[in-house]
Amino acid sequence: MRKIDIIESLKSYMEFEKESGVREYFFNMAPASQASCPRTNAQTLEELKKEVDSCKSCDLSRTRTNVVFGSGNPKAKLMFIGEAPGRDEDIQGLPFVGRAGQLLTKIIEAMGLKRQDVYIANILKCRPPNNRAPLPTEILACADNVKRQVEMKNPKVICTLGKFASQTLLKTETPITALRGTFQLYDGIKVMPTFHPAYLLRNPQDKRLVWEDMKKIKKEL
Ligand code: URA
Repeated sequence: MRKIDIIESLKSYMEFEKESGVREYFFNMAPASQASCPRTNAQTLEELKKEVDSCKSCDLSRTRTNVVFGSGNPKAKLMFIGEAPGRDEDIQGLPFVGRAGQLLTKIIEAMGLKRQDVYIANILKCRPPNNRAPLPTEILACADNVKRQVEMKNPKVICTLGKFASQTLLKTETPITALRGTFQLYDGIKVMPTFHPAYLLRNPQDKRLVWEDMKKIKKEL
């Protein structure tokens, strides 16, 4: 993540807090290692879900309705990774069930698959209030969860949805416009970055580019 993105993300968070009446901040200077989810010896996705369900590693645990761990076929060859739950996902405890999720379902079905054939997760497991951009501290606190989900699932292909998921998983600052359409590697697994379905709702003319990316995934599967 670029410094400017961190500053922008902090700025929008503080503006949101100001609107809610917050006037002062107290910083907890605990080292970052203490801020992330404690590692237990969870061996399966179900065990990991139980652990994450009670996670209080960041302040999103105070505002969430539900933890949105992930859903779908744990043995799926294809895993989608999005940014963070929105309002609908927070209420239902399931990823991609709002408007963007309905479009993702259509994309999956256009590939000749069903949602139950793939696995869907997000980088952040809890909803950022007001759907603001995730903060660096939240990413730090949650990043290990998606890493462990990938390790446990061991998919053949990962499709990262949008700039945030793609840049976070691949640890790069390359813009999504340059990343998308070409397979990258994460821990030896092929990753296809593509546009986020929420972006496609605003820019339907780019659906054809996402379809090109999906065709490459289908071929790889
Ligand atoms: N956007 C995301 O990135 N993830 C969701 O689960 C829903 C919307």
